[in-house]
Amino acid sequence: MHSNCTKKLLGLEDVILKKVIQADNYVKFFIETSPSPQICPCCGSQTSRIHDYRSQVIKDLPMQMKHTYLVLRKRRYICSCGKRFLEKYSFLPTYKRQTLRLSFKIIALLRETRSIKSVANEVNVSASTIARLLDTVSYSSPSLPECIGIDEFKGNAETGKYQCILVDARKHRLLDILPDRNQAHLSAYFREANRAERNRVKFFVCDMWKPYVDLAKAYFPNATVIIDKYHFIRYVTWAIENVRKRLQKKMSASLRKYYKRSRRLILTRYQKLKDENKKACDLMLLYNDDLRAAHYLKEWFYDICQSSKYSYQRTAFWEWVKTAEKSGIPEFMSCAATYRNWSEGILNAFKYGYTNGPTEGYNNKIKVLKRISYGMKNFKRFRTRIIHCSI
Ligand SMILES: [Zn+2]
Repeated sequence: MHSNCTKKLLGLEDVILKKVIQADNYVKFFIETSPSPQICPCCGSQTSRIHDYRSQVIKDLPMQMKHTYLVLRKRRYICSCGKRFLEKYSFLPTYKRQTLRLSFKIIALLRETRSIKSVANEVNVSASTIARLLDTVSYSSPSLPECIGIDEFKGNAETGKYQCILVDARKHRLLDILPDRNQAHLSAYFREANRAERNRVKFFVCDMWKPYVDLAKAYFPNATVIIDKYHFIRYVTWAIENVRKRLQKKMSASLRKYYKRSRRLILTRYQKLKDENKKACDLMLLYNDDLRAAHYLKEWFYDICQSSKYSYQRTAFWEWVKTAEKSGIPEFMSCAATYRNWSEGILNAFKYGYTNGPTEGYNNKIKVLKRISYGMKNFKRFRTRIIHCSI
């Protein structure tokens, strides 16, 4: 075959194609290179003396959707100093049994949220080879942005039950994955960042987890702490759910079933309900004063959150807290107590508008990766894979 055609067919430079074997599920290309003067790796002198040949089977990118092998006739040279050495090939790293481009392809496929096993099947190499390749990919800790968001997820890595996800809350980018959410791990991590960089951090978005706030105060002296909106809104949702559950206990079996089945009507924003559902919701609330008051508080709080006027939000927030505290509904009294405790961070959420919303998308990706990789006990590998799939 004309050498230019070989080059185009195989995508390999300076290779001579000697023979092709086509089978149902594989194709083998028998290749070799032309002899050329070599530099001895031992003494540095030039030699063209061929010692012998040996064939090596090399895995390559699949062609025609078949397992593809290059059978390379490797040439060994011998130098006048006595050293015998193998020819080098641009497409094949020394001591490897797969082409460089196959390794690159595998690394690219690992960016997709799919299991190592499925990648292994597609490219006809073992899962352990792929895991080893993944270990050659490394992502160093990023420089810190002005606006940091931190959230946790249940990762089940060997380092702890909860791993942390660090994002740029302004640019909505994943920054890093941390091995554990406890104080020791977090401190160790942020101690690594240089002081000037830490001093530049202006906002720190987190949930109502005390160690996060302590951390922010210790390492980001110029940062305003913001409690993530989705995390504090949940307390209102939980409160009204708990009121419903408490009231249900005193209901007849059929009524209990109805309230349980129709809980969406109570949880959904009233204005978003269709007219018939509004009526159904009204009826549910008519049953009990506590539930009606709870529903009123829930709607009111959502209104406050949805407003874009901070001066109104600040005043209304405190009015809400005081009303809830005096409501006599235990679920909302405790919710109000939590809000009072975290009022500074909650009001900052209203004032500056930053949230950890961007982590949600990453959390979903992590969930998929976790499922398809059977938990990924090895934290380093898990971190690499998440970052690899996210940036
Ligand atoms: Zn030599």
